[in-house]
Amino acid sequence: MAPAYIRVAADKLRDFVTEIFVAAGCSPAESGRIGFYLVNANLAGHDSHGVIRVPRYVRNRREGDTTPDVVVDVVLENPTMAVVDGKYGFGQTVAPQAVDIGLAKAKAGGAAVVALRNSGHIGRIGDWAERAAAAGQISIHFVNVAGSRLVAPFGGVDRRMSTNPFCVGVPMDPDPPLVLDFATSLVAEGKVLVASNGGKPVPDNALIEPDGRMSGDPAVLYGPLTANNPRDPRNGSGAIRAFGEHKGSGLAFICEILAGALAGGGCAGPPRDIGGRGRIANGMLSIYLAPSFYGSPEAFREEAKRYIAWFKDSRPASRGGEVLVPGEPEARARAERLANGVPLQPDTWAGLQGTARDVGLAAERIPRPLG
Ligand code: NAD
Repeated sequence: MAPAYIRVAADKLRDFVTEIFVAAGCSPAESGRIGFYLVNANLAGHDSHGVIRVPRYVRNRREGDTTPDVVVDVVLENPTMAVVDGKYGFGQTVAPQAVDIGLAKAKAGGAAVVALRNSGHIGRIGDWAERAAAAGQISIHFVNVAGSRLVAPFGGVDRRMSTNPFCVGVPMDPDPPLVLDFATSLVAEGKVLVASNGGKPVPDNALIEPDGRMSGDPAVLYGPLTANNPRDPRNGSGAIRAFGEHKGSGLAFICEILAGALAGGGCAGPPRDIGGRGRIANGMLSIYLAPSFYGSPEAFREEAKRYIAWFKDSRPASRGGEVLVPGEPEARARAERLANGVPLQPDTWAGLQGTARDVGLAAERIPRPLG
């Protein structure tokens, strides 16, 4: 029987993805960032936002939907806030610039808000919370996807939102940061993509059919799952459901209002015609807090650590179970995957190799799977 997963060493996978983007015409620096952040998502256990995205990113670059090597525009600013335009650049290039603007302002004044509009896909939002935490700052992120429609609101069946992640990061040095980072849909679209490629199935109430029936079948989102169907959500007739019934649907709605309407890139809906292209872009409203402005950082950390220990000490609900804090599953996945390689589904691996061939990368540049 063929193995369920192929494992590739993280550093080899990062170099491979970097080389694919260089061959696709991206600069070495931008290609390196894309390789780093996509593999980082796999290392965190979020395969939905990892290298499975490579074929789509290359296609977007080829078709001119993503602008190379963007230097962001600061549209408006004062000492505590900025509005930043990502100009449809790669999220891996745009987001670090937007985060660093917020960190510099919060370092000076204790708090800052950065509204990012018109960014290419910014991937796993936990990466941006971890960037802030590495600089010693707390961050809160509301994210939307302008021009995308994937998720039905509570009480409805028609798509009216995207998967709109919400994320909070808290530095806990020398321990790893606390990182709460989730899509407000019952599952991220990438998880449906993973399931459609033969990976972990999604729950049987994750999707909703046009007649209101719940489903776990990725065809509800992508249409028939034939080998040459490119898994385009525009081909499906159903929707992903928001998590947490009215509460999750409400949080997703607020992401649209803050990251879409306020940040200025627009809310969910049909792709917008910008310069003759149908654009889909991430928006992100981020709040940065420098803990030293709020009292003693040591006292904060001590109380937080005391509380974390008490929180985790709750008796497990099931035999052998345990209570984890946000960020713990990702830290564990990272340790395991760094040691044993990144597991990839055969279809994902085939997609990477196919894209490498398409962009003209020599066959010997394709890394050998482990074992
Ligand atoms: P998920 O359902 O796996 O939830 C992850 C969060 O829950 C993490 O904070 C994790 O630490 C915590 N968690 C998981 N298991 C836990 C447990 N047993 N106990 C305690 N805490 C636990 O994540 P998701 O909703 O599938 O989102 C995956 C990724 O997709 C995220 O990184 C998100 O940022 C990203 N995303 C990005 C976009 C975009 O437009 N760029 C859109 C949607 C999602």
